[in-house]
Amino acid sequence: MAKKVLVLGEIRDGELRNVSFEAVAAARLVANGGEVVGLLLGESVSSLANELIQYGADRVITVENADLKAYTPDAYSQAILQVIDAEKPEGFILGHTAIGKDVSPRIAAKIKSGLVSDAVSLEVVGEEVIFTRPIYSGKAFEKKVVQDGIVFASIRPNNITPLEKDESRTGDVTSMDVEIKDLRTIIKDIVRKTAGGIDLSEAKVIVAGGRGVKSEDGFKPLQELADVLGGAVGASRGACDAEYCDYSLQIGQTGKVVTPDLYIACGISGAIQHVAGMSNSKVIVAINKDPEATIFSIADYGIVGDLFEVVPLLTEELKNVIVKA
Ligand SMILES: Cc1cc2nc3c(=O)[nH]c(=O)nc-3n(C[C@H](O)[C@H](O)[C@H](O)COP(=O)(O)OP(=O)(O)OC[C@H]3O[C@@H](n4cnc5c(N)ncnc54)[C@H](O)[C@@H]3O)c2cc1C
Repeated sequence: MAKKVLVLGEIRDGELRNVSFEAVAAARLVANGGEVVGLLLGESVSSLANELIQYGADRVITVENADLKAYTPDAYSQAILQVIDAEKPEGFILGHTAIGKDVSPRIAAKIKSGLVSDAVSLEVVGEEVIFTRPIYSGKAFEKKVVQDGIVFASIRPNNITPLEKDESRTGDVTSMDVEIKDLRTIIKDIVRKTAGGIDLSEAKVIVAGGRGVKSEDGFKPLQELADVLGGAVGASRGACDAEYCDYSLQIGQTGKVVTPDLYIACGISGAIQHVAGMSNSKVIVAINKDPEATIFSIADYGIVGDLFEVVPLLTEELKNVIVKA
């Protein structure tokens, strides 16, 4: 049966995050020939609506309100609930991002719907939409179907391929007014710990450092390699605990979960809690001077050696290859 599916477009620094386009692609599958309706929340967001349409939405609803300038659970959930009430979608897809993780259970509880969180893929079999999600820190996968309410899921960034952008696609963009009241929190200011750069959860390439980098300066060669590959730098908790880098870079069970195309682990032993956050990376390269390090057991390619020798060599080689290409 064709469905009407709502998709939350997530905006950061005035641009749509890639996960929004991935969510549209997922919503197209769920819609099964029905309508995909993009939703943009913010203070001034209408200029981004066409991009969501070019990536596969049929139309877009914009909700512009000063209280939506930055994410707060109260304001976002009030706005989304009013849109759901007006549109009555049969599905709702959003990214499993900090916002998605926070707002989706609230919405699900209010509309009394099931929710599949952190889905990495989906398939439509007859009338059922079957989502696959990792469990037990990525050691197993389960398949889930929402039985009560709407087909509601948050999708893990970097797992569902967005549709190709079609600049000739057009669709209606309508604005909707919502009433936002009784806010319990107000964002006064956002202070960024890291200066811009590529978002770890959306990066296609991650060069991650562990306690083996030995100091804050030890991250410099990793940053150079990441720059050459157009990637981001991440870290193990060991490196964060040792104060070599900020906790915002931590990958793992209690850090960020990432699924880049290429993950280069430098001086990381491969503790289960770290592996939980990166084991679904498409290609894993491990550089470690200990041939017995656990990380080699999950790596596609392993280099036994001193990272301070190997990483600069890799950077130089890749510079040549990339320039020649
Ligand atoms: C509840 C809980 C939650 C946790 N959550 C996380 C989490 O989210 N993320 C996380 O990462 N950890 C997490 N941990 C910690 C985890 O158990 C490990 O302690 C941590 O991952 C170890 O970090 P590491 O691999 O950098 O350090 P180590 O285990 O000390 O490994 C350092 C590695 O560097 C290698 N090395 C040293 N020098 C060099 C060199 N010059 N060249 C090449 N290799 C070198 C060594 O051979 C070694 O393998 C958690 C722990 C607990 C208990």
